[in-house]
Amino acid sequence: MRNTRNILKTSPSSPTQKPTFNAMSDLALKALRVSESRYRRLFESARDGILLLNADTAQIEDVNPYLIQILGYSHAEFLGKKLWEVGTFPDIAESKNMFLKIQTEGYVRYDDLPLRTKAGAIIAVEFVSNSYDCEGTIVIQCNIRNITERKKTDERIKELAFFDQLTGLPNRLLLLDRLKQAMIASSRSGIFCALLFMDMDNFKNLNDTLGHDMGDVLLKQIGQRLTLCVREGDTVARLGGDEFVLVLAGLNTDKAEAAKRTKAVVKKIMAALNQPYHLGNVSHNCTASVGVTLFKGNHISIDGLMKQADLAMYQSKETGRNTLRFFDPDMELAVMKRAAIENDLRRAIDEKQFVLFYQAQIEGKNRIMGAEVLLRWQHPQRGQVPPAEFITLAEETGLILLLGKWVLEAACTRLVVWAGQLEMANLTIAVNVSAKQVRQPDFVGQVLNILKSTGASPHRLKLELTESLLIHDVEETIEKMLALKAQGIRFSLDDFGTGYSSLSYLKRLPLDQLKIDRSFVRDILTDPNDAAIARTIVTLSQSLGLAIIAEGVETEAQRNFLASSGCHAYQGYFFSQPLPIDGFEKIVQDARILA
Ligand code: C2E
Ligand code: MG
Ligand code: MG
Repeated sequence: MRNTRNILKTSPSSPTQKPTFNAMSDLALKALRVSESRYRRLFESARDGILLLNADTAQIEDVNPYLIQILGYSHAEFLGKKLWEVGTFPDIAESKNMFLKIQTEGYVRYDDLPLRTKAGAIIAVEFVSNSYDCEGTIVIQCNIRNITERKKTDERIKELAFFDQLTGLPNRLLLLDRLKQAMIASSRSGIFCALLFMDMDNFKNLNDTLGHDMGDVLLKQIGQRLTLCVREGDTVARLGGDEFVLVLAGLNTDKAEAAKRTKAVVKKIMAALNQPYHLGNVSHNCTASVGVTLFKGNHISIDGLMKQADLAMYQSKETGRNTLRFFDPDMELAVMKRAAIENDLRRAIDEKQFVLFYQAQIEGKNRIMGAEVLLRWQHPQRGQVPPAEFITLAEETGLILLLGKWVLEAACTRLVVWAGQLEMANLTIAVNVSAKQVRQPDFVGQVLNILKSTGASPHRLKLELTESLLIHDVEETIEKMLALKAQGIRFSLDDFGTGYSSLSYLKRLPLDQLKIDRSFVRDILTDPNDAAIARTIVTLSQSLGLAIIAEGVETEAQRNFLASSGCHAYQGYFFSQPLPIDGFEKIVQDARILA
């Protein structure tokens, strides 16, 4: 009770004429426009600390119970002391200054001020003081709010928002901010910085074999090693998964020298990362692919910069991993071109810009037994685009699935039309099918559906596969082929001799035909190796009981050589170019007339 009474009663010990702090309390109450009882209630029950100061002497006149509770000093230990004499302010000079400021300005506010408790702990407080002028006498009331818990929560929130929870490294958000700061600083200083994208090689394998927990342990260790390799002002961040990003600041004003320094850092990083990791009782080795882009100032957007480093990283992956690649603008150009084609390709599928060309397949001297359909893209600006310029991209982007389906449907529709025409009815159509199409789980169902919906005869359809199909899941491929073969569809192995076929697979694949690749046919008359390969393929097909056809036959001499080697089916410019449907139907009719 004494606490509050102090300010409410005139001090009997006051020797001076000038009202003391205690004596002026009535005035203070007036100034505060509160009644005595109300002020006392507030003072005693407040959940903020309240400290009353003598504005002249800086002595503490009173403290409320809550301040006593949070700081741990007794009431007596406060009273009569100067602000800086209690020991609650870690910095004496600062608390003297603070008092001066209160005296001169009347009002001070600190959002985050450290105070020391009697037990020695530092707590964070919000400190606001107000001075009240009561008829010429100054009353100072300091409100002190303990924000230690709130600060901890804020810090935790910040940590969650800006740091990766697994490794404790900055996350994407903080990285972007640091990158922005680095750009601004480098634009002022003219000193190059580097942005590094790093992706661990084959990290997925580790996750798959040792489990995600071990993957997490590895990521933590990688984060620690990376942090040890860089300087204090640099940033090591984790974007997620096994992707880390580093910002190396203040490299050099000369770009070449900056690149040299970056290389040295990356060398150090790689050496550190290549050391074995101890994951439980397993020792694991790991490498990283690194892409770098150098920057100075903010001529390019943060997003653009990130893309450059990412691109360089992919280049480094493609060049065989465990390497470093610097971004170069040609790389970007190639990617932009590719993205443009991909866009075009998507639109082309929607807008049906594709047509099929038909190239005759000949048996014996000149009997047309069918055609291979070859895709052509009628580009509205570029004209006719050959498949070499878009099939690989279509395969990589998965667009080949849509495209391949369209080709099959168009070919089957054509077979149905031909079935009603006497001279065309016996022809077969060979359709190129990509490995990606065959690998779809419902490939068999798709083909059978197309046959059913179009009404085409499976006996007239031949699917051309490539040897790339034999790299993975051969058993599954064999099963699918057998299911389709049971319906009457035949299979040819395209570009034979250029791929990976092993004899054992070849024996087990339910094939009907081998197609000698045109690269052997081209020099068959001049290169004894090619001639020998072509002959061997013919012999092989005979021993496996498979039909044989040669592609890329351009001259009569090539045809004759092939015939003398035992190959009697051909495709090539010597007989016919790939033609639009009208052109192809015409040569079939002409050949009939000639026959
Ligand atoms: P491919 O299946 O080996 O097709 C044969 C290629 O050789 C065709 O090239 C054809 O025009 C060309 N050719 C034919 N005769 C001769 C000749 O006497 N001399 C020379 N030098 N070349 C000849 P094209 O049409 O450019 O097709 C290239 C490749 O694109 C095809 O090779 C095939 O792998 C792929 N392709 C074409 N259409 C499709 C399709 O509908 N689906 C899939 N997945 N791939 C296709
Ligand atoms: Mg083909
Ligand atoms: Mg071929």
